[in-house]
Amino acid sequence: MLKAGIVGLPNVGKSTLFNALVANAQAQAANFPFCTIEPNVGSVAVPDERLQLLCDLSKSKEMIPTRMEFVDIAGLVKGASEGEGLGNKFLANIREVDAIVHVVRCFEDEDVIHVSGSVDPSRDAEVINLELGFADLSQIEKRRLRLKKQTRTSNDAQFEDAALERIQSVLEQGGAARAVELSDEEAKIIKPLGLLTAKPIIYATNVSEDDLAGGNAYCEEVTTLATREGAECVRISAQVEAELIELGEAERIDYLEGLGVSEGGLKSLIKATYRLLGLRTYFTTGEKETRAWTFKAGMTAPQTAGVIHTDFERGFIRAQTIAYQKLLEAGSFAEARNKGWLRSEGKDYVVEEGDVMEFLFNV
Ligand code: GDP
Repeated sequence: MLKAGIVGLPNVGKSTLFNALVANAQAQAANFPFCTIEPNVGSVAVPDERLQLLCDLSKSKEMIPTRMEFVDIAGLVKGASEGEGLGNKFLANIREVDAIVHVVRCFEDEDVIHVSGSVDPSRDAEVINLELGFADLSQIEKRRLRLKKQTRTSNDAQFEDAALERIQSVLEQGGAARAVELSDEEAKIIKPLGLLTAKPIIYATNVSEDDLAGGNAYCEEVTTLATREGAECVRISAQVEAELIELGEAERIDYLEGLGVSEGGLKSLIKATYRLLGLRTYFTTGEKETRAWTFKAGMTAPQTAGVIHTDFERGFIRAQTIAYQKLLEAGSFAEARNKGWLRSEGKDYVVEEGDVMEFLFNV
């Protein structure tokens, strides 16, 4: 399963956010009692309003969201790339994730100590980004040293070295590896290095409850920075999310209304991270259950059937499919069939976001 790692300086609200993510998943899905896989890894339900509508249409007994994983990566401090504060261990944890959620503190609170003495989101974000960049630089230097021995004889080594040289020069100017345009071949050859700044990133500005609706100047700073990098920025309040866990449904609505928002930012963050990972959703629906399944953009019908079970992929014959919107418009499967809207698709069909699928297969 693809994972997103939550990073940021100490005391910016990472753990509060992580705990809210996991607690929410637990509340939503009683049939997944072990949402915390390890102390710092949590499986989280991906919120999707379409599920309820499909569930109603099919009068399903059960509704099962799809899931993704978040990892709370604590302990990243200035100097981490030089081994400061167990730095290398945490950097290694980041190497294993597929995307980065960078939490930046955009709330003032004298009771919560700031590691650098003041709230300054641009500086904070830069401290973290530079540490990630330093770690990549040392990784690249080591790799290029090894390649040097081969460049005279190997074209592959020359090719890789040239790509790394370009990345290195961007990193040396304080940039990120993801800013370097690489061909598919180049991207493939440098992938095993697991460069941290090559991973897709999303910024989460953590604000106090009063600023959740309107944001503040700190958020604008981070948004500007994110836009410059071509990254998305989501406003959240980890504290609000932590408080919501304690409340019943009616109280939740009251509390959020009082703040002038419809949610604490958690839902938006999960959805944005899911997209960032290049993930898509298709549905299966019937009386027994309506369920969301995750696939990667570009997958064909047999491959997406394999998400349910490998036997489905192996024995795939064809799929009956209809876009979610179309099915709702028809009102029922029977009506969709009458109208001729249900399509029969073969092995080469590239599944689209929001497709409702029914697979026919040999076992
Ligand atoms: P981490 O070190 O980044 O994991 O930070 P924590 O989640 O442990 O949070 C550090 C402290 O900041 C805790 O005391 C939290 O209750 C507090 N905190 C987190 N988010 C907010 C927020 O949005 N507003 C305020 N005032 N405090 C927060």
